[in-house]
Amino acid sequence: GRGFFVGAAASLLPQQSLWRRSSCRPGGCCVRGNGDAGKESVVVVMGATGTGKSKLAVELATKFAGEVVNSDKIQVYRGLDVATNKMPMEERRGVAHHLLGELDPAAGELPPAAFREMAARAIDGIAGRGRLPVMAGGSNSLIHAAVVGSFDPRRSPFEDGEGRKAAAALRYRCCFLWVDVDAAELGEQLDRRVEEMAAAGMVEELRRYFEEEAASTAGDRRHPGLGKAIGVAEFREYFQGEGRGTPAAFEAAMAAVKANTRRLAEGQVKKIQRLGEMGWPLRRLDATAAVVGSATEAWERDVAVPAAAAVDQFLKE
Ligand code: ATP
Repeated sequence: GRGFFVGAAASLLPQQSLWRRSSCRPGGCCVRGNGDAGKESVVVVMGATGTGKSKLAVELATKFAGEVVNSDKIQVYRGLDVATNKMPMEERRGVAHHLLGELDPAAGELPPAAFREMAARAIDGIAGRGRLPVMAGGSNSLIHAAVVGSFDPRRSPFEDGEGRKAAAALRYRCCFLWVDVDAAELGEQLDRRVEEMAAAGMVEELRRYFEEEAASTAGDRRHPGLGKAIGVAEFREYFQGEGRGTPAAFEAAMAAVKANTRRLAEGQVKKIQRLGEMGWPLRRLDATAAVVGSATEAWERDVAVPAAAAVDQFLKE
């Protein structure tokens, strides 16, 4: 039964995946009947901020000999590591991460079409090494741009109209995993996370950011993409405004970061739902119990094990 399959998948999954791209090379035996023949296989981990996407991506990459491709449009830049929630090196457990903190924030804002090209290079490189690409990150417009069959920058899949029609066709064979957390619970969790980020140095990091900005002739146009990170606009008043440095200004900045983080999460869920409505086969994993209690057991049971079973199945298909 299903229970056995899930349990068995947890204990029997190979640490080094048996999956190899070589089996899909010309003359290989994996021609598929549904138009997927010859396409690279990609696992895509979606979800709102704070749901544990990055952690799941590392776990899957570890289990299936994969490498992670970041799809967060702010985390692609160097800088503001705490404010943008980049996964620290020690939590990456030796898993290679691509497009994470690689871009110079002074180079300008990254258009989705450029991300599509960069992601394709990363995915081809990973698959070429016989490894599994695992895309993870909260920018669903970038995920869409990266994996859609044909990309038209003038048409957004998130707005009504033409953009939605062709959006379901994909250029990779994708396993979409959606880590979802109940909105009210996630909101509370995100408020706590903002406090943790402040304790972990977010405010000092932003102080340096504004100092460097003040020293630059480009001013606030210096980092067009990174400057949109939550925290920058919210703390500008605290560092540069009339009431700078006051407790009231600090509290106002923190409240704004919390509110905008919640808004970001809500927007991300809407976009993911939209991609599901368009026909992307999303496998939803309910991480509410895991995230609410920071509960390892619930994470294994509700997220890690079913995700690994889904990927295992995906790689066998
Ligand atoms: P759009 O470009 O239409 O906003 P998107 O899906 O590309 O869609 P999101 O990734 O949802 O955009 O990000 C929207 C905004 O949320 C960003 O411009 C930024 O202000 C904020 N944001 C997103 N990711 C982060 C992050 N990792 N750290 C801080 N702020 C972020």
